[in-house]
Amino acid sequence: MSPKFVRKSIREMSGYEPGEQPAAGTRWVKLNTNENPFPPSEKVMRAIRDLPAESLRRYPPPLADAFRAAAGRMLRIGPEWIIAGNGSDDILTIATRTFVPPGGTLAFPSPTYSLYPVLARLEDAKSLAIPWEKDWSLPVAALAASGAEAIYLANPNAPSGTFVAPAKVAELAGAFSGLLLIDEAYADFAEGNCLALVTRFANVVIVRTLSKAYSLAGLRFGYGVAKPDVIAEMMKVKDSYNCDAVSIAAATAAIEDQDHARQGWEHVRSERRRVSQELTRLGWNVIPSQANFIFATPPLGDGKGVYRALKEKGILVRHFDLPDLSRSVRITIGTVEDNNALLAAVGRLQE
Ligand code: PMP
Repeated sequence: MSPKFVRKSIREMSGYEPGEQPAAGTRWVKLNTNENPFPPSEKVMRAIRDLPAESLRRYPPPLADAFRAAAGRMLRIGPEWIIAGNGSDDILTIATRTFVPPGGTLAFPSPTYSLYPVLARLEDAKSLAIPWEKDWSLPVAALAASGAEAIYLANPNAPSGTFVAPAKVAELAGAFSGLLLIDEAYADFAEGNCLALVTRFANVVIVRTLSKAYSLAGLRFGYGVAKPDVIAEMMKVKDSYNCDAVSIAAATAAIEDQDHARQGWEHVRSERRRVSQELTRLGWNVIPSQANFIFATPPLGDGKGVYRALKEKGILVRHFDLPDLSRSVRITIGTVEDNNALLAAVGRLQE
Protein backbone atom coordinates (compact mmCIF):
# COMPACT_ATOMS: atom_id res chain seq x y z
CA MET A 1 0.00 0.00 0.00
CA SER A 2 1.42 3.40 -0.95
CA PRO A 3 1.52 5.91 1.93
CA LYS A 4 -1.42 8.32 1.87
CA PHE A 5 0.84 11.37 2.00
CA VAL A 6 2.18 10.56 -1.49
CA ARG A 7 0.58 12.61 -4.29
CA LYS A 8 -2.47 10.78 -5.60
CA SER A 9 -1.25 10.87 -9.20
CA ILE A 10 2.05 9.26 -8.14
CA ARG A 11 0.33 6.60 -6.04
CA GLU A 12 -1.85 5.65 -8.97
CA MET A 13 0.84 5.48 -11.65
CA SER A 14 3.36 2.78 -12.39
CA GLY A 15 6.91 4.01 -12.90
CA TYR A 16 9.03 3.48 -15.99
CA GLU A 17 10.48 -0.01 -16.17
CA PRO A 18 14.09 -0.11 -17.40
CA GLY A 19 15.47 -3.20 -19.15
CA GLU A 20 17.22 -5.86 -17.05
CA GLN A 21 20.77 -4.99 -15.98
CA PRO A 22 22.43 -8.21 -14.81
CA ALA A 23 25.09 -7.92 -12.07
CA ALA A 24 28.58 -6.97 -13.27
CA GLY A 25 30.78 -10.01 -13.80
CA THR A 26 27.94 -12.33 -14.83
CA ARG A 27 28.19 -13.70 -18.36
CA TRP A 28 25.41 -12.73 -20.70
CA VAL A 29 25.11 -11.95 -24.36
CA LYS A 30 23.39 -8.69 -23.56
CA LEU A 31 21.22 -7.46 -26.41
CA ASN A 32 18.38 -5.92 -24.43
CA THR A 33 19.08 -2.23 -23.74
CA ASN A 34 20.57 -0.87 -26.98
CA GLU A 35 24.03 -0.27 -25.56
CA ASN A 36 26.99 0.14 -27.91
CA PRO A 37 28.95 -3.13 -28.31
CA PHE A 38 32.35 -1.37 -28.15
CA PRO A 39 34.19 0.46 -25.38
CA PRO A 40 34.28 4.28 -25.44
CA SER A 41 37.20 6.15 -27.00
CA GLU A 42 40.54 5.82 -25.20
CA LYS A 43 40.51 9.64 -25.06
CA VAL A 44 37.45 9.43 -22.82
CA MET A 45 39.22 7.11 -20.40
CA ARG A 46 42.23 9.44 -20.37
CA ALA A 47 40.05 12.49 -19.66
CA ILE A 48 38.61 10.68 -16.63
CA ARG A 49 42.03 9.54 -15.36
CA ASP A 50 43.53 13.02 -15.82
CA LEU A 51 40.78 14.86 -13.98
CA PRO A 52 42.38 17.06 -11.28
CA ALA A 53 41.16 16.49 -7.71
CA GLU A 54 40.30 20.18 -7.67
CA SER A 55 37.49 19.67 -10.14
CA LEU A 56 35.86 17.22 -7.71
CA ARG A 57 36.30 19.53 -4.73
CA ARG A 58 34.54 22.37 -6.52
CA TYR A 59 31.05 22.42 -7.98
CA PRO A 60 31.09 21.71 -11.72
CA PRO A 61 30.47 24.46 -14.29
CA PRO A 62 26.64 24.67 -14.11
CA LEU A 63 26.11 24.83 -17.88
CA ALA A 64 28.80 22.27 -18.84
CA ASP A 65 30.56 24.96 -20.91
CA ALA A 66 33.37 22.75 -22.26
CA PHE A 67 30.87 20.24 -23.58
CA ARG A 68 28.62 22.89 -25.12
CA ALA A 69 31.61 24.42 -26.90
CA ALA A 70 32.79 21.05 -28.25
CA ALA A 71 29.30 19.94 -29.32
CA GLY A 72 28.75 23.36 -30.93
CA ARG A 73 31.94 22.92 -32.99
CA MET A 74 30.82 19.45 -34.07
CA LEU A 75 27.31 20.62 -35.02
CA ARG A 76 28.46 24.00 -36.41
CA ILE A 77 26.23 26.03 -34.09
CA GLY A 78 26.90 28.31 -31.13
CA PRO A 79 26.98 26.90 -27.57
CA GLU A 80 23.90 28.97 -26.70
CA TRP A 81 21.90 26.54 -28.86
CA ILE A 82 22.80 23.62 -26.55
CA ILE A 83 21.70 22.38 -23.12
CA ALA A 84 23.55 19.48 -21.46
CA GLY A 85 21.85 16.87 -19.30
CA ASN A 86 22.38 13.84 -17.10
CA GLY A 87 21.49 11.46 -19.92
CA SER A 88 18.90 12.40 -22.51
CA ASP A 89 16.22 11.25 -20.05
CA ASP A 90 17.17 14.34 -18.02
CA ILE A 91 16.64 16.54 -21.10
CA LEU A 92 13.26 14.86 -21.66
CA THR A 93 12.31 15.58 -18.04
CA ILE A 94 13.45 19.21 -18.35
CA ALA A 95 11.50 19.55 -21.61
CA THR A 96 8.31 18.16 -20.10
CA ARG A 97 8.58 20.50 -17.12
CA THR A 98 9.27 23.43 -19.46
CA PHE A 99 6.63 22.84 -22.13
CA VAL A 100 3.83 20.65 -20.72
CA PRO A 101 1.73 22.36 -18.03
CA PRO A 102 -0.31 20.50 -15.38
CA GLY A 103 -3.61 19.56 -17.03
CA GLY A 104 -2.04 19.97 -20.47
CA THR A 105 -1.38 17.29 -23.06
CA LEU A 106 1.71 15.55 -24.39
CA ALA A 107 1.07 13.75 -27.69
CA PHE A 108 3.21 11.14 -29.41
CA PRO A 109 2.87 8.55 -32.15
CA SER A 110 2.43 5.16 -30.51
CA PRO A 111 3.96 2.70 -29.78
CA THR A 112 7.13 4.56 -28.80
CA TYR A 113 9.53 5.12 -25.92
CA SER A 114 7.45 4.24 -22.87
CA LEU A 115 9.01 6.97 -20.73
CA TYR A 116 6.97 9.72 -22.46
CA PRO A 117 3.61 8.97 -20.79
CA VAL A 118 5.40 8.59 -17.44
CA LEU A 119 6.90 12.08 -17.79
CA ALA A 120 3.48 13.55 -18.65
CA ARG A 121 1.96 11.88 -15.61
CA LEU A 122 4.65 13.28 -13.32
CA GLU A 123 3.56 16.77 -14.45
CA ASP A 124 -0.11 15.91 -13.84
CA ALA A 125 -0.57 16.23 -17.59
CA LYS A 126 -2.41 13.93 -19.99
CA SER A 127 -0.80 11.87 -22.71
CA LEU A 128 -2.34 11.33 -26.09
CA ALA A 129 -1.06 8.24 -27.91
CA ILE A 130 -1.78 8.52 -31.65
CA PRO A 131 -1.21 5.26 -33.53
CA TRP A 132 1.45 5.18 -36.25
CA GLU A 133 -0.04 4.79 -39.69
CA LYS A 134 0.40 1.53 -41.59
CA ASP A 135 4.07 0.81 -42.28
CA TRP A 136 5.04 3.09 -39.42
CA SER A 137 4.56 6.33 -41.33
CA LEU A 138 3.96 9.52 -39.35
CA PRO A 139 0.32 10.46 -38.62
CA VAL A 140 1.04 14.13 -39.42
CA ALA A 141 -2.56 15.39 -39.62
CA ALA A 142 -3.71 13.67 -36.41
CA LEU A 143 -0.68 14.88 -34.46
CA ALA A 144 -0.97 18.44 -35.80
CA ALA A 145 -4.65 18.52 -34.83
CA SER A 146 -4.06 16.97 -31.39
CA GLY A 147 -4.39 20.25 -29.49
CA ALA A 148 -1.43 19.12 -27.38
CA GLU A 149 1.11 21.54 -25.91
CA ALA A 150 3.92 19.28 -27.07
CA ILE A 151 4.62 16.34 -29.37
CA TYR A 152 7.48 13.93 -28.71
CA LEU A 153 8.77 12.02 -31.72
CA ALA A 154 11.48 9.40 -31.32
CA ASN A 155 13.30 9.29 -34.68
CA PRO A 156 14.42 6.57 -35.28
CA ASN A 157 11.55 5.26 -33.20
CA ALA A 158 11.83 2.75 -30.37
CA PRO A 159 11.07 -0.11 -30.32
CA SER A 160 10.31 -0.28 -34.06
CA GLY A 161 13.64 1.18 -35.28
CA THR A 162 11.73 2.92 -38.09
CA PHE A 163 12.77 6.33 -39.40
CA VAL A 164 10.67 9.28 -40.55
CA ALA A 165 12.30 11.32 -43.33
CA PRO A 166 13.27 14.83 -42.19
CA ALA A 167 11.01 16.38 -44.89
CA LYS A 168 8.00 14.65 -43.31
CA VAL A 169 9.02 15.81 -39.82
CA ALA A 170 9.34 19.35 -41.22
CA GLU A 171 5.73 19.10 -42.41
CA LEU A 172 4.65 18.37 -38.86
CA ALA A 173 6.83 21.15 -37.40
CA GLY A 174 5.19 23.64 -39.75
CA ALA A 175 1.63 22.40 -39.15
CA PHE A 176 1.85 22.31 -35.34
CA SER A 177 1.88 25.38 -33.13
CA GLY A 178 3.12 23.68 -29.95
CA LEU A 179 6.57 22.33 -29.18
CA LEU A 180 7.89 19.49 -31.35
CA LEU A 181 10.61 17.50 -29.60
CA ILE A 182 12.56 15.11 -31.81
CA ASP A 183 14.29 12.45 -29.74
CA GLU A 184 17.35 11.47 -31.79
CA ALA A 185 18.80 8.91 -29.35
CA TYR A 186 19.47 6.60 -32.32
CA ALA A 187 19.99 9.12 -35.15
CA ASP A 188 23.71 8.41 -35.53
CA PHE A 189 22.85 4.92 -36.77
CA ALA A 190 20.33 6.28 -39.30
CA GLU A 191 20.62 7.61 -42.84
CA GLY A 192 19.76 11.18 -41.77
CA ASN A 193 18.67 13.43 -38.93
CA CYS A 194 16.52 16.48 -38.24
CA LEU A 195 19.16 18.84 -36.86
CA ALA A 196 18.60 21.36 -39.66
CA LEU A 197 15.00 21.82 -38.47
CA VAL A 198 16.08 23.73 -35.35
CA THR A 199 17.26 26.62 -37.49
CA ARG A 200 14.13 26.54 -39.67
CA PHE A 201 11.49 26.20 -36.93
CA ALA A 202 11.24 28.08 -33.63
CA ASN A 203 9.22 25.25 -32.04
CA VAL A 204 11.67 22.36 -32.53
CA VAL A 205 13.93 20.82 -29.89
CA ILE A 206 16.34 18.03 -30.83
CA VAL A 207 17.44 15.63 -28.09
CA ARG A 208 20.54 13.46 -28.35
CA THR A 209 22.41 11.08 -26.07
CA LEU A 210 25.97 9.83 -25.68
CA SER A 211 24.65 6.55 -24.28
CA LYS A 212 24.44 4.67 -27.56
CA ALA A 213 26.44 6.35 -30.30
CA TYR A 214 29.41 7.11 -27.98
CA SER A 215 29.31 3.99 -25.74
CA LEU A 216 28.60 6.01 -22.58
CA ALA A 217 25.31 4.68 -21.19
CA GLY A 218 26.92 4.29 -17.76
CA LEU A 219 28.23 7.86 -17.72
CA ARG A 220 24.81 9.53 -18.19
CA PHE A 221 25.15 12.35 -20.67
CA GLY A 222 22.77 13.80 -23.22
CA TYR A 223 21.97 17.17 -24.72
CA GLY A 224 19.23 19.25 -26.31
CA VAL A 225 19.51 21.61 -29.30
CA ALA A 226 17.08 24.47 -30.00
CA LYS A 227 17.00 28.19 -30.68
CA PRO A 228 18.78 30.12 -27.91
CA ASP A 229 15.56 31.66 -26.54
CA VAL A 230 14.09 28.16 -26.11
CA ILE A 231 17.30 26.84 -24.52
CA ALA A 232 17.28 29.81 -22.10
CA GLU A 233 13.83 28.76 -20.81
CA MET A 234 14.96 25.14 -20.37
CA MET A 235 18.00 26.34 -18.41
CA LYS A 236 15.66 27.81 -15.78
CA VAL A 237 14.10 24.39 -15.22
CA LYS A 238 17.15 22.13 -14.96
CA ASP A 239 18.87 21.31 -11.68
CA SER A 240 21.69 23.78 -11.05
CA TYR A 241 24.43 21.15 -11.40
CA ASN A 242 22.74 18.48 -13.49
CA CYS A 243 26.01 17.24 -15.01
CA ASP A 244 28.95 16.32 -12.79
CA ALA A 245 32.60 17.22 -13.41
CA VAL A 246 33.59 13.67 -14.43
CA SER A 247 30.81 13.33 -16.98
CA ILE A 248 31.45 16.77 -18.48
CA ALA A 249 35.15 15.94 -19.04
CA ALA A 250 34.37 12.49 -20.45
CA ALA A 251 31.51 13.62 -22.68
CA THR A 252 33.62 16.45 -24.09
CA ALA A 253 36.39 14.01 -25.00
CA ALA A 254 33.85 11.64 -26.54
CA ILE A 255 32.23 14.21 -28.80
CA GLU A 256 35.67 15.39 -29.92
CA ASP A 257 36.60 11.88 -31.07
CA GLN A 258 34.19 11.52 -33.97
CA ASP A 259 36.42 9.02 -35.78
CA HIS A 260 36.20 6.51 -32.95
CA ALA A 261 32.44 6.84 -32.68
CA ARG A 262 31.90 6.62 -36.43
CA GLN A 263 33.63 3.24 -36.64
CA GLY A 264 31.06 1.85 -34.19
CA TRP A 265 28.17 3.27 -36.23
CA GLU A 266 29.50 1.63 -39.41
CA HIS A 267 29.77 -1.71 -37.61
CA VAL A 268 26.20 -1.43 -36.34
CA ARG A 269 24.88 -0.65 -39.83
CA SER A 270 26.55 -3.61 -41.48
CA GLU A 271 25.71 -6.05 -38.67
CA ARG A 272 22.12 -4.75 -38.62
CA ARG A 273 21.86 -5.68 -42.29
CA ARG A 274 23.33 -9.14 -41.69
CA VAL A 275 21.22 -9.99 -38.61
CA SER A 276 18.06 -8.74 -40.35
CA GLN A 277 18.79 -10.88 -43.42
CA GLU A 278 19.59 -13.99 -41.37
CA LEU A 279 16.48 -13.71 -39.20
CA THR A 280 14.37 -13.14 -42.31
CA ARG A 281 15.89 -16.32 -43.78
CA LEU A 282 14.84 -18.11 -40.57
CA GLY A 283 11.23 -17.04 -41.19
CA TRP A 284 11.15 -13.97 -38.94
CA ASN A 285 9.38 -10.76 -39.87
CA VAL A 286 11.96 -8.00 -39.37
CA ILE A 287 10.94 -4.33 -39.52
CA PRO A 288 13.56 -2.41 -41.54
CA SER A 289 15.58 -0.57 -38.88
CA GLN A 290 17.65 2.62 -38.86
CA ALA A 291 18.65 2.20 -35.20
CA ASN A 292 21.14 0.04 -33.30
CA PHE A 293 18.47 -2.61 -32.71
CA ILE A 294 15.83 -4.46 -34.67
CA PHE A 295 12.23 -5.26 -33.82
CA ALA A 296 11.37 -8.69 -35.12
CA THR A 297 8.62 -11.26 -34.91
CA PRO A 298 9.51 -14.96 -34.76
CA PRO A 299 7.65 -17.35 -37.13
CA LEU A 300 5.11 -18.43 -34.50
CA GLY A 301 4.62 -14.94 -33.04
CA ASP A 302 5.54 -16.19 -29.57
CA GLY A 303 7.71 -13.23 -28.57
CA LYS A 304 7.59 -14.03 -24.88
CA GLY A 305 8.47 -17.69 -25.41
CA VAL A 306 11.46 -16.79 -27.57
CA TYR A 307 12.60 -14.15 -25.04
CA ARG A 308 12.45 -16.81 -22.28
CA ALA A 309 14.15 -19.52 -24.33
CA LEU A 310 16.99 -17.16 -25.29
CA LYS A 311 17.39 -16.08 -21.66
CA GLU A 312 17.84 -19.71 -20.64
CA LYS A 313 20.70 -19.86 -23.13
CA GLY A 314 22.31 -16.75 -21.63
CA ILE A 315 21.09 -14.30 -24.27
CA LEU A 316 19.11 -11.27 -23.14
CA VAL A 317 16.77 -9.51 -25.58
CA ARG A 318 13.87 -7.20 -24.74
CA HIS A 319 10.25 -8.29 -24.69
CA PHE A 320 7.35 -5.85 -24.16
CA ASP A 321 4.25 -7.41 -22.65
CA LEU A 322 1.88 -5.03 -24.43
CA PRO A 323 -0.97 -5.85 -26.83
CA ASP A 324 0.62 -4.56 -30.06
CA LEU A 325 4.20 -5.55 -29.18
CA SER A 326 4.04 -8.90 -27.38
CA ARG A 327 4.44 -11.07 -30.52
CA SER A 328 7.90 -9.61 -31.16
CA VAL A 329 11.25 -9.05 -29.47
CA ARG A 330 13.66 -6.13 -29.69
CA ILE A 331 17.24 -7.19 -30.32
CA THR A 332 20.20 -4.83 -29.91
CA ILE A 333 22.93 -5.18 -32.55
CA GLY A 334 26.03 -6.47 -30.75
CA THR A 335 29.55 -7.54 -31.69
CA VAL A 336 29.91 -10.09 -34.49
CA GLU A 337 30.31 -12.77 -31.77
CA ASP A 338 27.19 -11.64 -29.88
CA ASN A 339 25.15 -11.61 -33.08
CA ASN A 340 26.45 -15.03 -34.11
CA ALA A 341 25.50 -16.41 -30.68
CA LEU A 342 22.01 -14.99 -31.11
CA LEU A 343 21.57 -16.36 -34.62
CA ALA A 344 22.88 -19.79 -33.62
CA ALA A 345 20.54 -19.93 -30.61
CA VAL A 346 17.55 -18.90 -32.74
CA GLY A 347 18.50 -21.53 -35.32
CA ARG A 348 18.62 -24.22 -32.63
CA LEU A 349 15.28 -23.12 -31.13
CA GLN A 350 13.63 -23.62 -34.51
CA GLU A 351 15.18 -27.00 -35.33
N1 PMP B 1 15.20 8.17 -25.97
C1 PMP B 1 14.96 6.95 -26.44
C2 PMP B 1 14.08 6.79 -27.63
C3 PMP B 1 15.55 5.83 -25.81
O1 PMP B 1 15.30 4.59 -26.26
C4 PMP B 1 16.39 6.03 -24.70
C5 PMP B 1 17.05 4.85 -24.02
N2 PMP B 1 16.25 4.20 -23.09
C6 PMP B 1 16.57 7.33 -24.24
C7 PMP B 1 15.98 8.38 -24.91
C8 PMP B 1 17.36 7.64 -22.99
O2 PMP B 1 18.70 7.51 -23.12
P1 PMP B 1 19.71 8.11 -22.05
O3 PMP B 1 18.91 8.63 -20.87
O4 PMP B 1 20.59 6.99 -21.68
O5 PMP B 1 20.42 9.21 -22.74
